[in-house]
Amino acid sequence: MSGDAAPLVVVGCGVAGLATALSAAPRPVLLVGRAADGDDGSTALAQGGIAAAMASGDSALAHAWDTQQAGAGYNHPAAVRYLTETAASAIHWLQLQGVGFDTQQGRLQLGHEGGHHCARIVHAGGDASGRVLLHALQDAARRSAHIRWHRPATLEAMLLRRGQVAGVGLRAIGTQTIEHLDCAELVLATGGCGALFAASTNPSGADGNGLALAQAAGATLRDLEFIQFHPTALDVRNSGPLPLITEALRGAGATLVDTDGERIMQGLHPDGELAPRDHVARQVWQHRQAGHQVWLDATSLQGDWLQRFPTVANICRQHGIDPRRQRMPVTPAAHFHMGGIAVDLEGRTSLPGLLAVGEVACNRVHGANRLASNSLLEGVVFGRRLGHRLSRMARSLPAAGPERWVQRSANADGDALNQLRCLAWQSLGPLRSRHGMHIALQQIQQQPSSETWQCRLIAAMLEAALQRRHSLGAHCLRAD
Ligand SMILES: Cc1cc2nc3c(=O)[nH]c(=O)nc-3n(C[C@H](O)[C@H](O)[C@H](O)COP(=O)(O)OP(=O)(O)OC[C@H]3O[C@@H](n4cnc5c(N)ncnc54)[C@H](O)[C@@H]3O)c2cc1C
Repeated sequence: MSGDAAPLVVVGCGVAGLATALSAAPRPVLLVGRAADGDDGSTALAQGGIAAAMASGDSALAHAWDTQQAGAGYNHPAAVRYLTETAASAIHWLQLQGVGFDTQQGRLQLGHEGGHHCARIVHAGGDASGRVLLHALQDAARRSAHIRWHRPATLEAMLLRRGQVAGVGLRAIGTQTIEHLDCAELVLATGGCGALFAASTNPSGADGNGLALAQAAGATLRDLEFIQFHPTALDVRNSGPLPLITEALRGAGATLVDTDGERIMQGLHPDGELAPRDHVARQVWQHRQAGHQVWLDATSLQGDWLQRFPTVANICRQHGIDPRRQRMPVTPAAHFHMGGIAVDLEGRTSLPGLLAVGEVACNRVHGANRLASNSLLEGVVFGRRLGHRLSRMARSLPAAGPERWVQRSANADGDALNQLRCLAWQSLGPLRSRHGMHIALQQIQQQPSSETWQCRLIAAMLEAALQRRHSLGAHCLRAD
């Protein structure tokens, strides 16, 4: 690593952290990730792909319209404009980094997903888009002289001096030793918090620990109540994440049915199975709450769709299901956090020197609900924007003054964590009641583990949800 600029630390090796680190060249970057192979975040699991208006007849304006429709109009208009207007150049940039998107006769293949009024989902490796993208960005980062990897290691603490970020505490995985490093700017790209819910598509590491550290440091958090639930996770017993059955399958014609084979979305929304995710998730949730199983039926799809959807085919095989002949049992599951650390379009948080990007951050681009396939795009677009800005300007380390090391509070694990995840699922799921949320908050406050960082984070989500007295986007209230 070379150069005189003040140290820049990027924590998180998913799409957002990698796009930031790559775009910060030639400024030296220390890139910190918890897994040796970097595949432990949500990015590696993304199936559908990346939205970009690239078809003839499509436009950034139309993409922006769909984004705001999904977000219930609560989106930050300038963020949406920037996201959709730079989407095509983000795809070109990814190609330059080595991402091989799926093509047909030399043109990008564009898929269709719920909430998009046009086929605009670029994908790679069929339904293995996230993994293909991640591996290409990791390779590009390995080739980049300005990036130094520091992994497997976890961010445990941050040093605030005169209220500004001045250092980080990193612990090598498998050890108890914390290494303290100077740092004038810290970028949190630590992903979402879906793993705090009993039913989730997120990997176990997507537990909101970066958000919790920012909370402990006093950074402003925003819109914590907006959690998106994916309508179709495979309903199987799993200790880790529930396997996701991509929405692209519904885009290809698969239907949601009850045990009698009746379509549960018929007559409920003009777009049927391709209605925005929260509509579909609530309908599946309500059927299940009433004690009925819900199934995704792909048995009538034409062509060799097992080749088009190898990940789904593989998941089903692992669970003894032949989706060409059998329906797949499905459940909603926590999938994406629209809320997070409050940032502006440049990734700046309320704490000087602390930046955030990707799912851990909230610049309101998704509003109250994310449009499918907009989040990998968000990671690339805002990661590049942040990286470019950081490449041009570097903060100095704050001068000597009052210092404070900030750490998350104690960790909940084992039974305490499982109970908490069930409580979050029941009270903050696709359909919420104010009464249920009040009770959940009281229960959390009375628990022996109430001082753990997971409890504090879920309590903050419940408080945010209670403050929003009307349904909006993914925050949907039913009468008590
Ligand atoms: C099953 C699934 C399918 C999806 N499909 C799509 C899709 O098709 N299209 C789309 O746009 N979006 C999709 N999403 C959402 C999208 O994948 C995520 O929003 C996005 O990848 C988040 O990227 P990120 O870089 O912010 O976080 P992540 O990819 O989750 O990366 C976070 C990184 O932070 C690291 N980290 C966390 N805490 C620490 C710590 N304390 N110290 C060090 N490192 C830490 C982790 O190790 C990880 O490397 C999907 C999500 C899931 C779960």
